Amino acid sequence: MSLFENTLAQIKQASAIMKLNPTVEKILSNPHRILEVTFPVKMDNGNIEVFKGFRVQHNNARGPYKGGIRFHPQVDMGEVMALSAWMTIKCAVANIPLGGGKGGVIVDPKKLSPAELERLSRAYIRSINRIVGPDEDVPAPDVYTTPQIMAWMVDEYSKIQGRNVLGMLTGKPLAVGGSLGRADSTSQGGIYVLEEVCKEKGIDPKKATVAVQGFGNAGANVAHMLMDMGFKVVAVSDSKGGLYSADGLDTRIVEKCKTEKGSVNNCAVGNAKAISNSDLLALPCDVLFLCAMENQITAENADKVQAKMILELANGPVTPEADAILAKKGIAVIPDILANSGGVTVSYFELVQNKANFYWTAEEVDTRLRKIMVDGWKNVSANAEKYACTYRQAAFITALKRLEDAILARGFEN
Ligand code: GLU
Repeated sequence: MSLFENTLAQIKQASAIMKLNPTVEKILSNPHRILEVTFPVKMDNGNIEVFKGFRVQHNNARGPYKGGIRFHPQVDMGEVMALSAWMTIKCAVANIPLGGGKGGVIVDPKKLSPAELERLSRAYIRSINRIVGPDEDVPAPDVYTTPQIMAWMVDEYSKIQGRNVLGMLTGKPLAVGGSLGRADSTSQGGIYVLEEVCKEKGIDPKKATVAVQGFGNAGANVAHMLMDMGFKVVAVSDSKGGLYSADGLDTRIVEKCKTEKGSVNNCAVGNAKAISNSDLLALPCDVLFLCAMENQITAENADKVQAKMILELANGPVTPEADAILAKKGIAVIPDILANSGGVTVSYFELVQNKANFYWTAEEVDTRLRKIMVDGWKNVSANAEKYACTYRQAAFITALKRLEDAILARGFEN
């Protein structure tokens, strides 16, 4: 199954449970627009290399297309299509007035110098500039893209337009129209959902263990937050391997070590020992946080999962086949489209602040983020009960109902 087929399977499942309007289902099963671009970039050695990128605009019934840009060697059009559809659904779960889009460039940014990365970022935004803008399609960071990359892109776009257009993308540095709280908003949003889940299921953080797959922006931040809440973080991992300690890891020391030694896998001191990524996914623990890439829990390894619950900060880490196996085993999955929607929610706040040219305090951002995440959980949890379905199906139902309302109210051309 391709990643987009996974998304279609998820829409289909929820649609069957809630009896979604079939035309709406058909509309949401196809992206509005797919743009594929190639563009040349001058390398530091004087050679010109040609890169390929995409921007997919999935649906804008509820507001401008919205979604990040991924720089990764494994990017392909099917992946960007899936990610764009999940953005449509995610914004509808959070009930923010935005649609879904996604971009990607096939590149390993770790192999580029800062100057090459800047030229590539500017060249990509020039290639897609005709279809993006604050009221059309608003990009943001995703895997391996950063606030600095957003700053180059907003600068390039503003030069093309001949005026400052800060709201053409989000996730910018504070110095150029970024929002307080955006940097750790994905993790913070996930924590607000987790707090509600713990209340509902009677989990005491001080007596619970967690494992965190992925130690990038979302994974490292969430690991620190979990440790600060009293959870015992028994394992973390990155793309090169993992680290385990039955006594719990000090995640800030692990992060420092990763910066020095390149991977958490090289940080085995004291009671901590190196483990593999697949070991981490099979560890017995209360909550397994998936903060890396898609397709991590599949039909092959779902049976080995011993965590009591999974929370997805990555997009699409559990396949539909794995979902069915986990549901049978009674392992609850708090799905990406709810759990990681804190990122796009604060992106929305950033866009609002750019439009008003008036900036909020950290407390204002945080209070509004918490409310959206708690409301999101309440809606999803209520639908899970009403339809006796999984949290993912309930989150899709929550979103699809809102999308159906918007699409039907706008009407079809006759
Ligand atoms: N890339 C993030 C996501 O997948 C954030 C998107 C945004 O802020 O627009 O949700």
